[in-house]
Amino acid sequence: MARYDLARAELAQVLAGEPPYRVGQVWDGLYRQHRDPAELTVLPVVLRARLGECEALAPALHLVQRQTADRGTTVKWVWRLGDGAVIETVLMHYPDRSTVCVSTQAGCAMGCGFCATGQAGFRRNLSVGEIVEQVVMACREAEGSERRLGNVVFMGMGEPLANYPRVWSAIERIHDDLGLSARHLTVSTVGIIPGIRRLTAEALPVNLAVSLHAANDELRDRLVPINRRYPLAKLVRACRAYVDAKGRRLSIEWALIEGVNDRPTDVAELAAIAVPLGAHVNLIPLNPTPGWPTTGTRPQEVRLFRDRLVSMGVNATIRRNRGTDIDAACGQLAARSGTLEG
Ligand code: SAH
Ligand code: SF4
Repeated sequence: MARYDLARAELAQVLAGEPPYRVGQVWDGLYRQHRDPAELTVLPVVLRARLGECEALAPALHLVQRQTADRGTTVKWVWRLGDGAVIETVLMHYPDRSTVCVSTQAGCAMGCGFCATGQAGFRRNLSVGEIVEQVVMACREAEGSERRLGNVVFMGMGEPLANYPRVWSAIERIHDDLGLSARHLTVSTVGIIPGIRRLTAEALPVNLAVSLHAANDELRDRLVPINRRYPLAKLVRACRAYVDAKGRRLSIEWALIEGVNDRPTDVAELAAIAVPLGAHVNLIPLNPTPGWPTTGTRPQEVRLFRDRLVSMGVNATIRRNRGTDIDAACGQLAARSGTLEG
């Protein structure tokens, strides 16, 4: 249990014996001011000291390293958790807003070979507090550079829909208490169909991104092993149901791998899925990772792929790569911090 794991009623228990309005003050400090309870000057000194010692209000994230790239507009944090597991969070500043990419698991069990997190294997699910605290740290950082945290994307380490209950509680906390609207929250999945169905049944209409990377089962089985369990036709049906229920545009993520999924046949197969779904395709050249030999498609070919998609009626954009040199880009999060990996 750490500070952002506590529900409000649990915080009230921690503050038993204090005047009831203290609960609101501490909650406001945590969620509106993004401050450490022990730093809240509105509280009496004795209480601040007590809260500073209180285990239930301790932070979940312990800083191992903070790195910046892209002239300070990309920030990556490496955090150590209470049990020694290591995770990463990436904040990207844009002129008008900032976007944080949060981890939902330490490692990942999905085994996509081209992804550094997948190469590292699975350690454990993150708790609600471990997820929410990443967002709070990003809020603090954004405020420090006079921006506002605009978006949260669940695209860091791990598969969010394989940690569904905690991820969903974190989303509710981020929405209800940190005050970000559902249209600024995006869950990215490798295609866990039962999870997509659960999302479809929720009241909050968050954005859904599906990491497709291949639009035929033969190739997708190889790139994304979970496709053997949740094949394309069924995945597309689950996506259709989500789009119909939420009225939100679906995103399809496609990491372009040279000679593997960047051929004209791939364009046609992708268009056949994206057009009927009205999906927006995000193209990104594969980022290098230690355990995968094939390289990303070259920029000129990436543009050609995009142009072909557009000519077939697909809404497609090339995603700008951020933080490659500090291993902060998509698929590069592996928390390689040596002995700290515990
Ligand atoms: N598990 C979820 C979310 C985390 S991965 C998912 O797979 O969607 C975030 C995104 O990075 C996914 O779209 C994933 O396919 C992509 N990705 C993984 N490895 C990559 C790499 N080496 N280069 C570019 N994108 C990569
Ligand atoms: Fe897991 Fe996503 Fe990486 Fe696949 S791409 S191994 S699902 S984090």
